[in-house]
Amino acid sequence: MTAGSDLIGRYAGAMVQVFGTPQLVLASGHGCWVTDVDGKRYLDLLSGIAVNALGHGHPALVQAVTKQAESAIHVSNFFTSEPAIALAERILAVAAAPAGSGVFFANSGTEATEAAIKLSRRTGRTRIVALEGSFHGRSTGALALTHKAAYREPFEPLIPEVVFVPPNDADALRAAVGDTTAALFVEPVQGEAGVRELSVDYLRLAREVTSAHGVLLVVDEIQTGIGRTGDWFAHQQSGIVPDAMTLAKGLGGGVPIGALVTFGPDTTALLAAGQHGTTFGGNPLACAAGLAVLDTIERDHLLEHVRDVAALLDDVEIEGVSGTRGRGLLRAIELDGIPAPAVMAAARDAGFIVNAVTQTALRLAPPLVISADELLGFLDALPAILEAAHAAGETTS
Ligand SMILES: *Cc1c(COP(=O)(O)O)cnc(C)c1O
Repeated sequence: MTAGSDLIGRYAGAMVQVFGTPQLVLASGHGCWVTDVDGKRYLDLLSGIAVNALGHGHPALVQAVTKQAESAIHVSNFFTSEPAIALAERILAVAAAPAGSGVFFANSGTEATEAAIKLSRRTGRTRIVALEGSFHGRSTGALALTHKAAYREPFEPLIPEVVFVPPNDADALRAAVGDTTAALFVEPVQGEAGVRELSVDYLRLAREVTSAHGVLLVVDEIQTGIGRTGDWFAHQQSGIVPDAMTLAKGLGGGVPIGALVTFGPDTTALLAAGQHGTTFGGNPLACAAGLAVLDTIERDHLLEHVRDVAALLDDVEIEGVSGTRGRGLLRAIELDGIPAPAVMAAARDAGFIVNAVTQTALRLAPPLVISADELLGFLDALPAILEAAHAAGETTS
Protein backbone atom coordinates (compact mmCIF):
# COMPACT_ATOMS: atom_id res chain seq x y z
CA MET A 1 0.00 0.00 0.00
CA THR A 2 1.29 3.45 -0.85
CA ALA A 3 1.43 6.24 1.71
CA GLY A 4 -1.24 8.02 -0.35
CA SER A 5 -3.74 5.16 -0.43
CA ASP A 6 -3.24 4.55 3.29
CA LEU A 7 -3.99 8.21 4.07
CA ILE A 8 -7.03 8.25 1.75
CA GLY A 9 -8.33 5.28 3.75
CA ARG A 10 -7.86 7.20 6.99
CA TYR A 11 -9.52 10.26 5.40
CA ALA A 12 -12.63 8.20 4.71
CA GLY A 13 -12.79 7.22 8.37
CA ALA A 14 -12.27 10.69 9.78
CA MET A 15 -13.85 13.30 7.52
CA VAL A 16 -17.34 14.43 6.64
CA GLN A 17 -17.63 13.23 3.05
CA VAL A 18 -18.70 16.49 1.38
CA PHE A 19 -15.69 16.52 -0.96
CA GLY A 20 -15.91 12.90 -2.07
CA THR A 21 -12.61 11.07 -2.26
CA PRO A 22 -9.62 13.43 -2.61
CA GLN A 23 -7.51 12.83 -5.71
CA LEU A 24 -4.14 13.07 -3.98
CA VAL A 25 -2.53 13.56 -0.62
CA LEU A 26 -0.13 16.45 -1.10
CA ALA A 27 2.88 16.85 1.12
CA SER A 28 4.70 19.95 -0.09
CA GLY A 29 5.08 22.54 -2.78
CA HIS A 30 7.76 24.69 -4.29
CA GLY A 31 7.07 27.36 -6.88
CA CYS A 32 4.51 25.96 -9.32
CA TRP A 33 5.21 22.36 -8.36
CA VAL A 34 3.64 20.17 -5.67
CA THR A 35 4.73 16.77 -4.39
CA ASP A 36 2.45 14.05 -3.08
CA VAL A 37 3.18 11.83 -0.09
CA ASP A 38 4.60 9.15 -2.41
CA GLY A 39 7.12 11.58 -3.87
CA LYS A 40 5.47 12.16 -7.27
CA ARG A 41 5.71 15.73 -8.57
CA TYR A 42 3.00 17.65 -10.38
CA LEU A 43 2.94 20.97 -12.17
CA ASP A 44 0.20 22.86 -10.32
CA LEU A 45 -2.05 24.50 -12.92
CA LEU A 46 -4.85 25.11 -10.42
CA SER A 47 -3.08 26.69 -7.40
CA GLY A 48 -5.60 25.47 -4.86
CA ILE A 49 -8.41 26.96 -6.98
CA ALA A 50 -6.83 30.32 -7.76
CA VAL A 51 -5.49 30.73 -4.23
CA ASN A 52 -1.72 30.22 -4.31
CA ALA A 53 -1.11 33.36 -6.37
CA LEU A 54 2.63 33.32 -5.66
CA GLY A 55 2.90 29.54 -5.98
CA HIS A 56 4.16 27.46 -3.09
CA GLY A 57 6.78 28.46 -0.57
CA HIS A 58 7.36 31.90 -2.05
CA PRO A 59 10.11 33.47 0.11
CA ALA A 60 8.31 36.84 0.41
CA LEU A 61 5.16 35.16 1.75
CA VAL A 62 7.01 32.71 3.99
CA GLN A 63 9.09 35.50 5.45
CA ALA A 64 6.14 37.81 6.04
CA VAL A 65 4.06 35.10 7.73
CA THR A 66 6.97 33.83 9.82
CA LYS A 67 7.92 37.29 10.99
CA GLN A 68 4.31 38.18 11.81
CA ALA A 69 3.72 34.91 13.67
CA GLU A 70 6.67 35.74 15.88
CA SER A 71 5.12 39.05 16.94
CA ALA A 72 1.31 38.69 16.87
CA ILE A 73 -1.01 36.23 15.13
CA HIS A 74 -4.31 37.50 16.47
CA VAL A 75 -5.44 40.54 18.43
CA SER A 76 -9.31 40.51 18.05
CA ASN A 77 -11.35 43.41 16.73
CA PHE A 78 -11.42 45.17 20.08
CA PHE A 79 -7.98 46.17 18.89
CA THR A 80 -6.28 46.54 15.55
CA SER A 81 -2.82 46.12 14.08
CA GLU A 82 -0.67 47.83 11.51
CA PRO A 83 -0.82 45.00 8.95
CA ALA A 84 -4.64 45.23 8.88
CA ILE A 85 -4.62 48.98 8.34
CA ALA A 86 -1.82 48.81 5.77
CA LEU A 87 -3.52 46.03 3.80
CA ALA A 88 -6.84 47.90 3.73
CA GLU A 89 -5.03 51.00 2.46
CA ARG A 90 -3.24 48.99 -0.22
CA ILE A 91 -6.43 47.29 -1.42
CA LEU A 92 -8.21 50.65 -1.67
CA ALA A 93 -5.24 52.07 -3.60
CA VAL A 94 -5.02 49.27 -6.18
CA ALA A 95 -8.82 49.29 -6.50
CA ALA A 96 -8.61 53.05 -7.22
CA ALA A 97 -11.43 53.42 -4.68
CA PRO A 98 -12.60 56.99 -4.02
CA ALA A 99 -12.12 58.77 -0.69
CA GLY A 100 -14.46 57.45 1.98
CA SER A 101 -14.22 53.84 0.76
CA GLY A 102 -13.61 51.05 3.26
CA VAL A 103 -12.59 47.44 3.82
CA PHE A 104 -14.15 44.80 6.06
CA PHE A 105 -11.90 41.78 6.54
CA ALA A 106 -13.34 38.28 6.77
CA ASN A 107 -11.76 34.84 6.49
CA SER A 108 -13.19 33.38 3.32
CA GLY A 109 -15.07 34.15 0.15
CA THR A 110 -18.46 33.17 1.43
CA GLU A 111 -18.02 35.45 4.45
CA ALA A 112 -17.20 38.33 2.12
CA THR A 113 -20.46 37.57 0.30
CA GLU A 114 -22.36 37.49 3.60
CA ALA A 115 -20.99 40.93 4.45
CA ALA A 116 -22.11 42.18 1.03
CA ILE A 117 -25.60 40.75 1.53
CA LYS A 118 -25.88 42.47 4.91
CA LEU A 119 -24.60 45.69 3.33
CA SER A 120 -27.34 45.42 0.72
CA ARG A 121 -30.02 44.93 3.40
CA ARG A 122 -29.02 48.28 4.86
CA THR A 123 -30.40 49.98 1.75
CA GLY A 124 -33.83 49.19 3.20
CA ARG A 125 -34.53 46.87 0.27
CA THR A 126 -34.38 43.07 0.25
CA ARG A 127 -34.55 41.94 -3.37
CA ILE A 128 -31.30 40.68 -4.90
CA VAL A 129 -30.55 39.97 -8.55
CA ALA A 130 -27.84 37.44 -9.38
CA LEU A 131 -26.82 35.69 -12.56
CA GLU A 132 -27.47 32.20 -13.82
CA GLY A 133 -24.28 30.20 -13.42
CA SER A 134 -23.23 32.31 -10.43
CA PHE A 135 -21.19 31.03 -7.51
CA HIS A 136 -20.98 33.29 -4.46
CA GLY A 137 -20.33 30.77 -1.70
CA ARG A 138 -21.84 27.99 0.37
CA SER A 139 -22.95 29.60 3.64
CA THR A 140 -26.71 29.93 3.78
CA GLY A 141 -26.88 33.58 2.74
CA ALA A 142 -24.39 33.29 -0.10
CA LEU A 143 -25.97 30.01 -1.14
CA ALA A 144 -29.20 31.80 -1.94
CA LEU A 145 -27.27 33.73 -4.61
CA THR A 146 -25.51 30.64 -5.94
CA HIS A 147 -27.34 29.41 -8.98
CA LYS A 148 -26.57 25.70 -9.10
CA ALA A 149 -29.69 23.85 -7.97
CA ALA A 150 -27.75 20.86 -6.60
CA TYR A 151 -25.94 23.15 -4.15
CA ARG A 152 -29.02 25.16 -3.19
CA GLU A 153 -32.05 22.93 -3.15
CA PRO A 154 -31.13 20.55 -0.28
CA PHE A 155 -31.01 23.61 2.00
CA GLU A 156 -34.09 25.53 0.97
CA PRO A 157 -35.81 27.62 2.11
CA LEU A 158 -32.95 30.13 1.90
CA ILE A 159 -33.23 33.91 2.07
CA PRO A 160 -36.10 34.97 -0.17
CA GLU A 161 -36.40 37.43 -3.03
CA VAL A 162 -33.37 36.36 -5.04
CA VAL A 163 -33.88 36.27 -8.79
CA PHE A 164 -31.48 34.88 -11.37
CA VAL A 165 -31.12 36.31 -14.85
CA PRO A 166 -29.11 34.91 -17.78
CA PRO A 167 -25.66 36.55 -18.06
CA ASN A 168 -24.91 38.91 -20.94
CA ASP A 169 -28.65 39.41 -21.59
CA ALA A 170 -29.28 43.16 -21.55
CA ASP A 171 -33.08 42.96 -21.72
CA ALA A 172 -33.31 40.44 -18.88
CA LEU A 173 -31.12 42.67 -16.73
CA ARG A 174 -33.16 45.78 -17.45
CA ALA A 175 -36.34 43.88 -16.65
CA ALA A 176 -35.04 42.44 -13.37
CA VAL A 177 -33.40 45.50 -11.78
CA GLY A 178 -35.76 48.12 -10.44
CA ASP A 179 -36.54 50.49 -7.59
CA THR A 180 -37.13 47.68 -5.10
CA THR A 181 -33.83 45.90 -5.87
CA ALA A 182 -31.19 46.09 -3.14
CA ALA A 183 -28.23 44.75 -5.08
CA LEU A 184 -27.01 43.13 -8.26
CA PHE A 185 -24.23 40.57 -7.75
CA VAL A 186 -21.97 39.72 -10.69
CA GLU A 187 -18.71 37.85 -11.27
CA PRO A 188 -16.75 39.50 -14.12
CA VAL A 189 -15.71 35.98 -15.13
CA GLN A 190 -17.85 33.15 -13.77
CA GLY A 191 -15.17 30.69 -12.68
CA GLU A 192 -17.31 27.89 -11.32
CA ALA A 193 -19.70 28.05 -14.27
CA GLY A 194 -16.80 27.04 -16.52
CA VAL A 195 -14.89 30.33 -16.89
CA ARG A 196 -17.63 32.33 -18.59
CA GLU A 197 -16.91 36.01 -19.14
CA LEU A 198 -19.28 38.91 -18.83
CA SER A 199 -18.81 41.26 -21.75
CA VAL A 200 -17.45 44.75 -21.17
CA ASP A 201 -20.73 46.14 -22.51
CA TYR A 202 -22.75 44.03 -20.10
CA LEU A 203 -20.74 45.18 -17.08
CA ARG A 204 -21.18 48.79 -18.20
CA LEU A 205 -24.90 48.23 -18.59
CA ALA A 206 -24.97 46.65 -15.13
CA ARG A 207 -23.41 49.84 -13.77
CA GLU A 208 -25.86 51.98 -15.69
CA VAL A 209 -29.07 50.21 -14.64
CA THR A 210 -28.03 49.83 -11.00
CA SER A 211 -27.10 53.52 -10.77
CA ALA A 212 -30.39 54.51 -12.38
CA HIS A 213 -32.38 52.65 -9.71
CA GLY A 214 -30.18 53.27 -6.65
CA VAL A 215 -29.15 49.60 -6.57
CA LEU A 216 -25.80 48.43 -5.21
CA LEU A 217 -23.57 46.86 -7.85
CA VAL A 218 -21.53 44.17 -6.10
CA VAL A 219 -18.69 42.61 -8.09
CA ASP A 220 -17.55 39.25 -6.80
CA GLU A 221 -13.80 39.24 -7.49
CA ILE A 222 -13.14 36.38 -5.11
CA GLN A 223 -11.72 34.30 -7.96
CA THR A 224 -10.92 36.98 -10.56
CA GLY A 225 -9.23 39.53 -8.30
CA ILE A 226 -5.62 40.07 -7.20
CA GLY A 227 -4.07 39.90 -10.64
CA ARG A 228 -5.69 36.69 -11.83
CA THR A 229 -6.94 38.18 -15.11
CA GLY A 230 -3.94 40.46 -15.73
CA ASP A 231 -5.30 43.51 -13.92
CA TRP A 232 -5.64 43.94 -10.18
CA PHE A 233 -9.37 43.33 -10.57
CA ALA A 234 -11.21 42.03 -13.62
CA HIS A 235 -13.94 44.69 -13.50
CA GLN A 236 -11.27 47.36 -14.08
CA GLN A 237 -11.04 46.09 -17.67
CA SER A 238 -14.49 47.56 -18.30
CA GLY A 239 -13.76 50.86 -16.55
CA ILE A 240 -16.69 50.62 -14.15
CA VAL A 241 -16.58 51.58 -10.48
CA PRO A 242 -18.71 49.19 -8.41
CA ASP A 243 -20.40 49.97 -5.10
CA ALA A 244 -18.86 46.95 -3.46
CA MET A 245 -16.35 44.23 -4.26
CA THR A 246 -15.70 40.90 -2.58
CA LEU A 247 -12.24 39.32 -2.39
CA ALA A 248 -10.72 36.15 -0.98
CA LYS A 249 -8.89 33.31 -2.79
CA GLY A 250 -5.66 34.93 -4.10
CA LEU A 251 -5.56 37.72 -1.53
CA GLY A 252 -3.66 35.80 1.15
CA GLY A 253 -1.64 33.65 -1.24
CA GLY A 254 -2.95 30.59 0.65
CA VAL A 255 -3.50 32.07 4.09
CA PRO A 256 -7.28 32.30 4.61
CA ILE A 257 -8.61 35.83 4.24
CA GLY A 258 -11.64 37.47 2.68
CA ALA A 259 -12.64 41.08 2.26
CA LEU A 260 -15.58 43.29 1.42
CA VAL A 261 -14.58 46.59 -0.16
CA THR A 262 -17.17 49.37 -0.09
CA PHE A 263 -16.74 52.19 -2.59
CA GLY A 264 -17.42 55.76 -1.51
CA PRO A 265 -18.67 57.21 1.79
CA ASP A 266 -22.39 56.55 1.29
CA THR A 267 -21.97 52.81 0.71
CA THR A 268 -19.30 52.52 3.39
CA ALA A 269 -21.60 54.19 5.94
CA LEU A 270 -24.35 51.59 5.37
CA LEU A 271 -22.74 49.24 7.91
CA ALA A 272 -22.49 51.01 11.25
CA ALA A 273 -20.80 50.02 14.51
CA GLY A 274 -22.17 46.77 15.87
CA GLN A 275 -23.96 45.73 12.68
CA HIS A 276 -21.40 43.19 11.54
CA GLY A 277 -18.36 41.46 12.98
CA THR A 278 -15.99 38.52 13.03
CA THR A 279 -13.51 37.09 15.52
CA PHE A 280 -10.68 36.21 13.17
CA GLY A 281 -11.24 38.72 10.35
CA GLY A 282 -8.41 41.21 9.92
CA ASN A 283 -5.95 39.27 12.06
CA PRO A 284 -2.36 40.49 11.58
CA LEU A 285 -1.12 37.13 10.30
CA ALA A 286 -3.54 36.96 7.36
CA CYS A 287 -3.10 40.66 6.66
CA ALA A 288 0.70 40.35 6.63
CA ALA A 289 0.24 37.56 4.08
CA GLY A 290 -2.02 39.79 1.98
CA LEU A 291 0.53 42.60 2.08
CA ALA A 292 3.28 40.23 0.95
CA VAL A 293 1.09 39.10 -1.97
CA LEU A 294 0.30 42.65 -3.09
CA ASP A 295 3.92 43.77 -2.61
CA THR A 296 5.24 40.87 -4.66
CA ILE A 297 2.74 41.35 -7.48
CA GLU A 298 3.85 44.97 -7.69
CA ARG A 299 7.59 44.47 -7.20
CA ASP A 300 7.84 41.58 -9.68
CA HIS A 301 5.49 43.19 -12.24
CA LEU A 302 3.25 40.15 -12.11
CA LEU A 303 0.27 41.85 -13.79
CA GLU A 304 2.39 42.32 -16.93
CA HIS A 305 3.76 38.81 -16.51
CA VAL A 306 0.25 37.35 -16.34
CA ARG A 307 -0.74 39.13 -19.55
CA ASP A 308 2.43 38.00 -21.34
CA VAL A 309 2.46 34.39 -20.29
CA ALA A 310 -1.31 33.97 -20.66
CA ALA A 311 -1.08 34.81 -24.35
CA LEU A 312 0.23 31.26 -24.78
CA LEU A 313 -3.29 30.10 -23.93
CA ASP A 314 -5.12 32.34 -26.40
CA ASP A 315 -5.17 29.78 -29.19
CA VAL A 316 -4.72 26.16 -28.29
CA GLU A 317 -4.70 24.40 -31.66
CA ILE A 318 -4.71 20.80 -30.53
CA GLU A 319 -6.80 17.91 -31.82
CA GLY A 320 -9.50 17.25 -29.22
CA VAL A 321 -9.65 20.89 -28.04
CA SER A 322 -12.55 22.85 -29.47
CA GLY A 323 -11.70 26.22 -27.94
CA THR A 324 -10.52 28.25 -24.98
CA ARG A 325 -12.20 30.86 -22.81
CA GLY A 326 -11.22 33.27 -20.12
CA ARG A 327 -8.71 35.98 -19.45
CA GLY A 328 -5.22 36.15 -18.00
CA LEU A 329 -4.51 33.05 -15.96
CA LEU A 330 -8.15 32.08 -15.48
CA ARG A 331 -8.89 29.87 -18.45
CA ALA A 332 -11.05 27.04 -19.66
CA ILE A 333 -10.06 24.57 -22.33
CA GLU A 334 -13.19 23.23 -23.98
CA LEU A 335 -12.85 19.59 -25.01
CA ASP A 336 -14.23 18.05 -28.11
CA GLY A 337 -15.83 14.75 -27.11
CA ILE A 338 -13.51 13.54 -24.35
CA PRO A 339 -15.04 13.92 -20.86
CA ALA A 340 -13.19 16.47 -18.75
CA PRO A 341 -12.96 14.23 -15.67
CA ALA A 342 -11.11 11.61 -17.75
CA VAL A 343 -8.71 14.27 -19.04
CA MET A 344 -8.14 15.55 -15.52
CA ALA A 345 -7.22 12.01 -14.41
CA ALA A 346 -4.92 11.46 -17.39
CA ALA A 347 -3.27 14.84 -16.74
CA ARG A 348 -2.67 13.84 -13.14
CA ASP A 349 -1.06 10.57 -14.24
CA ALA A 350 1.17 12.64 -16.52
CA GLY A 351 2.12 14.98 -13.65
CA PHE A 352 -0.21 17.96 -14.17
CA ILE A 353 -2.92 19.27 -11.86
CA VAL A 354 -5.89 20.73 -13.71
CA ASN A 355 -9.60 20.91 -12.83
CA ALA A 356 -12.59 19.46 -14.66
CA VAL A 357 -14.74 22.53 -14.02
CA THR A 358 -17.60 21.11 -16.13
CA GLN A 359 -18.12 17.78 -17.86
CA THR A 360 -16.60 19.24 -21.04
CA ALA A 361 -14.08 21.83 -19.87
CA LEU A 362 -10.81 21.97 -17.98
CA ARG A 363 -10.06 24.98 -15.82
CA LEU A 364 -6.54 26.36 -15.57
CA ALA A 365 -5.74 28.83 -12.78
CA PRO A 366 -2.01 28.42 -12.23
CA PRO A 367 0.09 30.52 -9.86
CA LEU A 368 0.61 34.03 -11.26
CA VAL A 369 4.34 33.33 -11.21
CA ILE A 370 4.16 30.43 -13.67
CA SER A 371 6.82 30.63 -16.38
CA ALA A 372 6.29 30.36 -20.12
CA ASP A 373 8.36 27.15 -20.10
CA GLU A 374 6.14 25.59 -17.46
CA LEU A 375 2.97 26.47 -19.39
CA LEU A 376 4.50 25.24 -22.63
CA GLY A 377 5.42 22.00 -20.87
CA PHE A 378 1.74 21.42 -20.23
CA LEU A 379 0.64 22.41 -23.74
CA ASP A 380 3.27 20.08 -25.22
CA ALA A 381 2.03 17.22 -23.05
CA LEU A 382 -1.67 17.89 -23.73
CA PRO A 383 -2.02 15.86 -26.97
CA ALA A 384 -0.70 12.72 -25.26
CA ILE A 385 -2.92 13.41 -22.22
CA LEU A 386 -5.98 13.70 -24.45
CA GLU A 387 -4.96 10.50 -26.23
CA ALA A 388 -4.59 8.65 -22.94
CA ALA A 389 -7.97 9.95 -21.71
CA HIS A 390 -9.57 8.90 -24.98
CA ALA A 391 -7.98 5.43 -24.78
CA ALA A 392 -9.13 5.03 -21.15
CA GLY A 393 -12.68 5.86 -22.29
CA GLU A 394 -12.51 3.24 -25.07
CA THR A 395 -11.47 0.48 -22.67
CA THR A 396 -14.10 1.29 -20.03
CA SER A 397 -17.00 1.68 -22.47
C1 LIG B 1 -14.55 30.47 -4.24
C2 LIG B 1 -15.58 31.50 -4.51
C3 LIG B 1 -16.46 31.92 -3.52
C4 LIG B 1 -16.50 31.30 -2.15
O1 LIG B 1 -15.29 31.38 -1.47
P1 LIG B 1 -15.01 30.42 -0.21
O2 LIG B 1 -13.71 30.91 0.34
O3 LIG B 1 -14.94 29.02 -0.74
O4 LIG B 1 -16.12 30.58 0.73
C5 LIG B 1 -17.36 32.93 -3.84
N1 LIG B 1 -17.37 33.49 -5.06
C6 LIG B 1 -16.52 33.12 -6.03
C7 LIG B 1 -16.57 33.80 -7.35
C8 LIG B 1 -15.61 32.10 -5.80
O5 LIG B 1 -14.80 31.70 -6.78
